Amino acid sequence: MRKIIHIDMDAFFASVEQRDNPQWKNKPVVVGGDPRGRGVVAAASYEARIYGVHSAMPSSHASRLCPDLIFVRPRFEAYKKESEIIRAIFSEYTDLIEPLSLDEAYLDVTENKKENPSATLIAREIKDKIHSNTGLTASAGISYNKFLAKIASDVQKPNGITLIEPEKALSFIAGLPIGSFYGVGKATEKKMHQLGIKNGADLRNWSEFDLMKEFGKAGSFYYHIARGMDDRPVKTERIAKSIGKEKTFQTDIDSVEWLMEYVDTLSHQVAERLQKEKTEAKTVTLKIRYDNFEVNTRSKSPGHPISTQHDIASLAKLLLLETEAGKRNVRLIGVTVSGFNREVGDSSGGQLMLPFFDS
Ligand SMILES: [Mg+2]
Repeated sequence: MRKIIHIDMDAFFASVEQRDNPQWKNKPVVVGGDPRGRGVVAAASYEARIYGVHSAMPSSHASRLCPDLIFVRPRFEAYKKESEIIRAIFSEYTDLIEPLSLDEAYLDVTENKKENPSATLIAREIKDKIHSNTGLTASAGISYNKFLAKIASDVQKPNGITLIEPEKALSFIAGLPIGSFYGVGKATEKKMHQLGIKNGADLRNWSEFDLMKEFGKAGSFYYHIARGMDDRPVKTERIAKSIGKEKTFQTDIDSVEWLMEYVDTLSHQVAERLQKEKTEAKTVTLKIRYDNFEVNTRSKSPGHPISTQHDIASLAKLLLLETEAGKRNVRLIGVTVSGFNREVGDSSGGQLMLPFFDS
């Protein structure tokens, strides 16, 4: 069984502003657009939430709910900086990190760098480190899948930590309002209510077939999460712009034939990575370093997608013939592909807040 932690910073943007502007501590603060314009609330401090202010609400509405509300323009650079500090803490424990936004991430700690068998203790340590390094608080949810971990982090917000054990999962889900289920937005919630599905227990009374008739493919997902089943992996975010392999030689190479063989080997390795990422490239680049450390880089974009070893190697060999390899001693050879039809390993995360703001 997996051990998944969901970490969610508490009122992140607003908390950063309150930390950096102590005069706003314990006051209702909103980060977002101008209340006199068409701005929207991006984050609300807990003091503001007492008035019913919440994110995605028009700023003008928020200022009517709470006339003393302090409006702050967002400082994304500041939030990004904190986010990087937090992610560095995560990576002390695992490389299986899936960021959902600047302030939220899933961690798979089933196997972790500290060899700590307790996900709860890891979550506690992470929360403590976040607080001592940033002065900010986070809430943590722990369970055996992403669905339950995310729900758990919400249970004792702010500054909470909640574990949903496997044997408690079903009773927990049964009492959960349907609107709190992952993937159930306002429209789906309304439809669920019309069908008499108010909570997890109601949902579990439905067959997979009937749910799929109503909700399509999502129906199958609802059927499984109602039973605490969610096998979605924690997907790491690797936004690579290129995939490359290179080889440094112990002795100088003056044979083009020999270099061609290395091109084949390197192309094979690059093609394997490319296929693993299920993407195609536009450009092949060959890099040669001569024995005097001079570097020669040449690229070709053939105008059709590049994906196989043959595609890569044949282009790289043409490029090799354009260099002075054979005439001069070569110390290093590298093959790189770039220009992917999508970003490699691009995860579905990254919900940017930008659309919330007035332009
Ligand atoms: Mg948050």
